[in-house]
Amino acid sequence: MDYDVIIIGAGLGGLVCANILAEKGFHVAIFEKKAAVGGCCTSFKRRGFTFDLSVQSIGGCRAGGRVWRLLGSLGLRDRIELLPLDRAREYHFPDRTIIQYAELNTHIEYLASLFPREQAGIKKIYQVYRSLAAEIDRFPHTLSWFDPSHVEREFPSIFQYREQTLQELLDAFIQDPVLKVILGVRSPIPSCRRASSP
Ligand SMILES: Cc1cc2nc3c(=O)[nH]c(=O)nc-3n(C[C@H](O)[C@H](O)[C@H](O)COP(=O)(O)OP(=O)(O)OC[C@H]3O[C@@H](n4cnc5c(N)ncnc54)[C@H](O)[C@@H]3O)c2cc1C
Repeated sequence: MDYDVIIIGAGLGGLVCANILAEKGFHVAIFEKKAAVGGCCTSFKRRGFTFDLSVQSIGGCRAGGRVWRLLGSLGLRDRIELLPLDRAREYHFPDRTIIQYAELNTHIEYLASLFPREQAGIKKIYQVYRSLAAEIDRFPHTLSWFDPSHVEREFPSIFQYREQTLQELLDAFIQDPVLKVILGVRSPIPSCRRASSP
């Protein structure tokens, strides 16, 4: 059988790409080496407990968000119930527990209260995250228009930080190593959780 596109791996990335391409009329095949689809976004059971392999909460699910829009375009929004979270996660260190609030401004204020000396750096990091997220949100799905001279003007933050690692960015504004860990894993987008875990 002939296919227009072959996708290796039925994780979230492969499944979403396959759906979008199929919607556009391409004949798509996905090859998955495991028995189940979903990749990292699956669960397994052990001794009566269900463990998420990796994904516990997903950002961009609120009305207008990136995932909300994607679910709409795939016709899935009405078939998945998403529960908004107050606390997206907790990080347990030997000497303290740090909460990750799903609402971004609450989280920024909370971190600033825990690390008062780092207040300015925390605000700066989230300012960068927000501008990057906003630019990524409006990045076109096709690069057929691509003209490198537009990138600097249209996507100034992506252009500015294009060669910087997250570690370098955090090192420039933050001193506390624990805070760097927290800021390194915190997505700038508010989080939701699926209503029912498998
Ligand atoms: C510990 C951890 C926690 C995370 N928590 C979150 C979270 O809370 N929220 C969030 O949004 N994201 C989270 N992520 C990120 C998220 O899991 C990934 O971004 C996402 O699942 C990646 O999807 P993917 O399709 O790119 O890759 P994967 O999910 O890894 O899928 C790849 C698929 O390809 C298959 N495959 C690989 N090689 C072959 C081959 N040769 N032939 C056939 N099949 C193959 C694999 O079996 C797999 O099914 C977390 C990641 C980790 C590691």
